[in-house]
Amino acid sequence: VSTSAPQRRIVAVQVDPPYSVHVGAGLVGEVARRAEGWSRTFVLTDANVERLFGDIARGWPSAFVHAVAPGEDSKSFAMLERVLDAMVAAGCDRSSGLVAFGGGVVGDLGGLAAGLFHRGIPFVQAPTTLLAMVDSSVGGKTAVNLASGKNLAGIFHQPAEVYADTRFLATLPDDEYRSGLGEVIKTAVIDGPLFARLGELAPDIARREPEALAEVAEACVRVKARIVARDPFEQGERKLLNLGHTFAHAIEHAAGYGRIPHGVAVAVGVVLAAESGRAAGLAVEAGFVESLRSLARELDVPASLDALRHGYGIELHPDALLWAMARDKKARAGHPLYVVPFGPGAVERDVDLPEPSVMAALGQLRRS
Ligand code: ADP
Ligand code: ZN
Repeated sequence: VSTSAPQRRIVAVQVDPPYSVHVGAGLVGEVARRAEGWSRTFVLTDANVERLFGDIARGWPSAFVHAVAPGEDSKSFAMLERVLDAMVAAGCDRSSGLVAFGGGVVGDLGGLAAGLFHRGIPFVQAPTTLLAMVDSSVGGKTAVNLASGKNLAGIFHQPAEVYADTRFLATLPDDEYRSGLGEVIKTAVIDGPLFARLGELAPDIARREPEALAEVAEACVRVKARIVARDPFEQGERKLLNLGHTFAHAIEHAAGYGRIPHGVAVAVGVVLAAESGRAAGLAVEAGFVESLRSLARELDVPASLDALRHGYGIELHPDALLWAMARDKKARAGHPLYVVPFGPGAVERDVDLPEPSVMAALGQLRRS
């Protein structure tokens, strides 16, 4: 597969205020230009990213680099308070800006800190994980976790700019990479054309070729940007982005949070949603479930409960998953509505799937 020379890829996100997502191999230097007008550039990162790429961040104008511990535990209220205090200690004021330099944890925490500091200062997302590049850095959702649940305390605060440099992905641990690919598969199913293109790019994606990844990330951001612009506060259409997520949350919950990467659970969830639709007799395209599975296989993303057992040593029982789904925060009266893919580019939200069909899909995928 041929890939062209490095290209400028810019996606406009038409929300209020609008902003651009810049995608490309080697463009992280542009963050420096964006930070030039700020009295201070507070760079929020985590210890792994700091160790690998801290020198880049320290080169940004008036930069102060603050690293939190890697991992989901840093998405806490206690950590948020420490970050805000560190911003004061670093001399930040209302004309300062924040750069969230890392994965989704740093993006969610940093976006929230920027939204609260002096009632809101600008922030830039410089994602370093595939998941953050294709999903969490776009859309303006920020949050920390509460003891009672994930992402329960947060605000919408759109970034001033996003710079996704796909060269960072070379050092990403395999499981984190797979997790990003799971959301890529989900987005490709929502989109349609990207679904076929992913198959063509699979060998380049496997060796993390930065230009191929830039093409994929740009396409994913376009899909998300289009949907977010039409429904910035998740009142309707944006629910499409939750494809696979009712199942994914149940999988993550039943396995114990953190044991199965989020995007991997999403990939399994997309297949389960399609299987459930098929079992319910809905018009799922012939061969779609099979092509979904073979794409996942080419990208080395587990896409069945059986594959999760092999890959992670975790046995998930259909009953436990069904129980977890009934408790999902989006379920009404213990009965979730699903996003169902009928084929590439043909996805419907708020589908009421009969429980026996879901159960059949869970049982089927367990044996496959
Ligand atoms: P996500 O984007 O999946 O929500 P996290 O913020 O939890 O991710 O980051 C996942 C892990 O990957 C963390 O341990 C983080 O330190 C590490 N990480 C992030 N970016 C890179 C990178 N480019 N290279 C290596 N490790 C990275
Ligand atoms: Zn997700």
